Amino acid sequence: MEQKQRMATLCVQAGWTPKNGEPRVLPIVQSTTFKYDNTEEMADLFDLKKEGYFYTRLQNPTNDAVAAKIAALEGGVGAVLTSSGQAATFYAVFNICEAGDHIVASSEIYGGTYNLFGVTLKKLGIECTFVSQDASEEDIGHAFRPNTKALFGETVSNPGCKVLDIEKFARIAHSHGVPLIVDNTFPTPVNCRPFEWGADIVTHSTTKYMDGHATQVGGCVVDSGNFDWEAQADKFPGLCTPDASYHGLTYTKAFGKAAYLTKLVAQLMRDLGSIPSPHNAFLLNLGLETLHLRVPRHCENAQRVAEFLAADERVAWVRYSGLPGDESHALAQKYLPQGSCGVLSFGLKGDRATAVRFMDALRLVAIVTHVADARTCVLHPASHTHRQLSDEQLREAGVAPDLIRLSVGIEDVEDILDDIRQALDKL
Ligand SMILES: *Cc1c(COP(=O)(O)O)cnc(C)c1O
Repeated sequence: MEQKQRMATLCVQAGWTPKNGEPRVLPIVQSTTFKYDNTEEMADLFDLKKEGYFYTRLQNPTNDAVAAKIAALEGGVGAVLTSSGQAATFYAVFNICEAGDHIVASSEIYGGTYNLFGVTLKKLGIECTFVSQDASEEDIGHAFRPNTKALFGETVSNPGCKVLDIEKFARIAHSHGVPLIVDNTFPTPVNCRPFEWGADIVTHSTTKYMDGHATQVGGCVVDSGNFDWEAQADKFPGLCTPDASYHGLTYTKAFGKAAYLTKLVAQLMRDLGSIPSPHNAFLLNLGLETLHLRVPRHCENAQRVAEFLAADERVAWVRYSGLPGDESHALAQKYLPQGSCGVLSFGLKGDRATAVRFMDALRLVAIVTHVADARTCVLHPASHTHRQLSDEQLREAGVAPDLIRLSVGIEDVEDILDDIRQALDKL
């Protein structure tokens, strides 16, 4: 048996193994379509009887190689790239839910996901109950209904930096016969592999650390292959009963552990079409080749910045799970022993205007609507993403009016600290 390769090797080499005389570097197959010699071969592809490429909306060699790398990093049976993280989250849920169904999600999740679940899925007839991830297993269990199809959480929440108790969430999901879906964008598989703790499906915004250079928007859905859909056949008819749009084929019977992702491509990509361009997949792959080097540096720098801010008297509070006093510190030690990520949040003593003065005084650290790339950046939700809200409405949305989200990059940490120090001195 082939020896299982380690994380660093997978980051550099997984997904693309060139044969004799083929390009060493993953080629960009910038073609919408693929040619066949006769009608029957093409017909077999359409019937899912044979594997092969015919149209890039469904499959493309560049995209598939990068998806295979991410599947290897997460320890899954397969993965599918999407055109954004939002598309990945939507597909992961919509692949097993339809109008009349229900999901349960932690309320400590990315704002875009909160909106997708609370507003847009509702319009499609899928309801979501949000729960506090600190609640007891029993209390979270009360949110489940007979039509509940999934439980959802983020390994490390954006922007709150809260760590998910994955084992607890997996137990709750499984005791109700549904899969646990985890958004693992912030830690990346370098710092946490949720499948090892019982998660069934993992999603990513590859826009963040995986790309790491802010060059492409993308997402990914990874399947562990561990959830037994057949054991819950009446909950998941889409996977366990014949699909009329595929000549009565049943995904679990025809594809086994690949059932969930095959359905996701064959139905959702076919009908909704959120694929990335092969060129974007190529850029993502360049980022992945150094993921194992960048992530530890992000964590190291963020730890230093968090400690510096926590010790400064002008700072009111800091949230970073690497700080011993942080409410997520114990969970971080269990799930993220090598560090969480480069993102932290903090508040300055003063009001909304204090935060604005601080941010405007920064020089190296840039104000951008982004997180998790090589360059250090900040965002003040109260002045930017949530600027239409009053202080009271902000608190209701779980965003403190003074919250500054700092995404610590991989520059020299002394330069980052110098910049923060000079901006604090201007308050
Ligand atoms: C950014 C982000 C998303 C959404 O991803 P896009 O690529 O921007 O669509 C989802 N989850 C988390 C945790 C994110 O940070």
